[in-house]
Amino acid sequence: MSRSFDSYFGPPSQPINVAEFLQQANSALLSGSFTNAAWEQLTPEHRNAVEAEINESISDLKSSLDQVWDNPVLSAHVLRQHESTIASVRGQADAPAPKGRKRKRDIAPEGSESTPEVLQLQEKLDAVNLRCWGLTVESALCMRSAKNSDYNALDAPKKMEQAPDANSHPNAVISLTVYNRITYLPSCLTRSSQHAVLSTQTLADLLRVLPCASSNMPTEELDAEGDVSSYNVTDQTGEHSGCLFCIEDLIYRDGRETPDYAEKLVVHFHKLPEDKRPQIKIASTSASETTFNALTLGTHKPYWILHQGNCEHFFVIDQIRHAPLAHVSDPLSGYPLMLHLTPTVQDLCRACGKVPAVHSIVGDMRLGESPCLLCAPCWRMMGPPKNDEGVVVVPLVIPFVNH
Ligand SMILES: [Zn+2]
Ligand SMILES: [Zn+2]
Repeated sequence: MSRSFDSYFGPPSQPINVAEFLQQANSALLSGSFTNAAWEQLTPEHRNAVEAEINESISDLKSSLDQVWDNPVLSAHVLRQHESTIASVRGQADAPAPKGRKRKRDIAPEGSESTPEVLQLQEKLDAVNLRCWGLTVESALCMRSAKNSDYNALDAPKKMEQAPDANSHPNAVISLTVYNRITYLPSCLTRSSQHAVLSTQTLADLLRVLPCASSNMPTEELDAEGDVSSYNVTDQTGEHSGCLFCIEDLIYRDGRETPDYAEKLVVHFHKLPEDKRPQIKIASTSASETTFNALTLGTHKPYWILHQGNCEHFFVIDQIRHAPLAHVSDPLSGYPLMLHLTPTVQDLCRACGKVPAVHSIVGDMRLGESPCLLCAPCWRMMGPPKNDEGVVVVPLVIPFVNH
């Protein structure tokens, strides 16, 4: 159920013309309407006093939290309490299991030791009057365990080299999330990465930084007879054999000489009965000519990318912000930034079952299956194949960004 929850987007915003939004934001900035009149009327002393009060109350909250987290006995107690509340909410919310089938139950953790400091903390927590934060049976609908796409493989935003500055001209910073289909559940999507692009950058700039296994395929090395003898892994992203973007019923082509993806898609749609044809048109500019400034976008609405044959991605605009109003911690250069990257889940080696596989061995009869996924040490231990002819070692692609 959580998978299908994550595959829903919306509700979408009204269409936002990025260029118009920038114009309005610029004129609002110049006319000073972003400032708060009531705040401006205060005397500097009064403002300082308000700021000091806010800072003090936040540091007060933070220090009481830190006190608990830094104490292993107290933090363990809080965690145990949380887990046991979750277990009881789940237990109450579960529907009775069908007859004859045993239901897996969440087991509440053992009770905590009652040291004086733990009892004191619990007394304090019980005295909190804010009841709306407590978990109810309905909370179970919004609870799920952590998934791989919740984790971030990056510890800091990843910058693009030789990228323009955010402040070189009036820009909007657009943050977006890229989703891919789940291989074994193609109707559900999962978050793959998040990026921040400048509105002066093009759709092709976004495609260039998209982490995708199809763009990093190893190149085939052919022997004298034209058969594949081995594979070569390069650090370079493979050239795009073609692409299209479908945004707000317009298709942005790759602009190739040969019939491009957009034309092929339109031809494909013409095979459908007229009433079932999607009402989309080819845009006048290609993906490499179209900047985000030229687009009208809706937030929380999926748009479609097709490239490298049949590789599909969806992206959803999360935010459109005016760059001059950036937060002090926002990087000034290196756009498109990669903000989030879901860690890659690799298949385990078929021989040891412990280490991620790095080779796919094709045609080796000793392995009993072809292709067979193996880690490097296991493949070395096997020694050279006896039926040397026809055994091909294919490097597995790890869809991580190499640029
Ligand atoms: Zn792709
Ligand atoms: Zn192994």
